[in-house]
Amino acid sequence: MKLVLQAERVVAGDGNKPIESGAVLIDNGRIVAVDRQSEIASAIDEFTDVIDAPGQTIMPGLVEVHTHMHCTAEPDAYEKMIIDDDQTLLMRASVAVRKSLLSGVTTMRDLGSRNQIAFPIKHAINHGIIPGPRLLVTGTPITTTAGHCNMFGTEADTTEQVISAVRTQAKMGADHIKIMSTGGNFTPRSNTREAQYSYETIQAAVEDAERLGMTVAAHCHGTVGVKNCIDAGVHHLVHCSWLSSDPTKEYDYDPKLADAIAAAGQYVDPTIALAPLRYDANPGDPVFQPGGVYQHLPQRYSILRDMLDRGVKFIAGLDAGMPQGRFGEHAWVPRTMVEELGVSPMDALVSSTKTSAEALGVADVTGTIKPGKSADIIVVDGDPTVDIKALHTVSTVLMSGHVVKRSGVPLV
Ligand SMILES: [Zn+2]
Repeated sequence: MKLVLQAERVVAGDGNKPIESGAVLIDNGRIVAVDRQSEIASAIDEFTDVIDAPGQTIMPGLVEVHTHMHCTAEPDAYEKMIIDDDQTLLMRASVAVRKSLLSGVTTMRDLGSRNQIAFPIKHAINHGIIPGPRLLVTGTPITTTAGHCNMFGTEADTTEQVISAVRTQAKMGADHIKIMSTGGNFTPRSNTREAQYSYETIQAAVEDAERLGMTVAAHCHGTVGVKNCIDAGVHHLVHCSWLSSDPTKEYDYDPKLADAIAAAGQYVDPTIALAPLRYDANPGDPVFQPGGVYQHLPQRYSILRDMLDRGVKFIAGLDAGMPQGRFGEHAWVPRTMVEELGVSPMDALVSSTKTSAEALGVADVTGTIKPGKSADIIVVDGDPTVDIKALHTVSTVLMSGHVVKRSGVPLV
């Protein structure tokens, strides 16, 4: 069935100027035309569904590159992950994907969940059993014995074991590979500052993943682990925290390494909105004290700003499921880019749509509003190119052309 969306403006997600009094014509789940309303008007007939959104903005659905869909997103995330049975985790994940979709996320990558959760959830979405975004999964993260996120289920120590783990995830249906280059805060006794693998081992994982047509995202906090990922040609550097091996120091940022990331075209997912300052999202919620990975956020932000200035491409990941990364609050990623890094609202929006879709390898299908692409579209109140906070109020969501939320009312 034909559908026309009309609003005060259309932001295509490609960085170009918005189309004022814009409209998008959709047929059979695909975008047919995007233009001024006056140009689309002739395509409207008695069988066309028209959604009129005066004062609002039509834009691509958000592309979220970093979630853990079976985690609680609360301070108990680790404990619940350990004790909950698979049935509970499946139910939690099915709620999380719906919540994300209704908040405007139309493409989402799970960056590490247990295999028995990740693959059935993807299957259930693809077969219309539960509502959710276009979902890409990594299966379980690959980590060392007792390493970061070992409780997800895949421990591999030697290069041979890591290659075998990559192949196992590919066989089970992973779209991408997640590997833990350093320890992480989520896992007791893992060391955030030190490398878990040599660069040779990570490089072997990258080579084998590439052979299988897969992208590798690597968790890296310590600079030694960041450097290993750069040298190994990892496609996505996750967190990229530049923590010093010296526990008396916090950061150990090397601008030359940032230049190397930019030159190699590696993407960075800085999980910028997960820092412990976002409690004001829900007034009355527990206030989290600064701590964990980042003690000094202003310094963290100035490092990230410098990386951007050197041409590093940022992609948008909330790390949803981890404490404070609540599903449905993905808009905090572009918002934090604007508020803390001084990125323009348009650039933050492009990072959260087009650039993230490119990084996930789905840019030919989604990420911008362009004829031929899937109609993964949202309508937001106000103008996000002026005030990025507009992304928090998503009134209408189209997933592959299906209206799953209309004028604020969820239909799934
Ligand atoms: Zn994560």
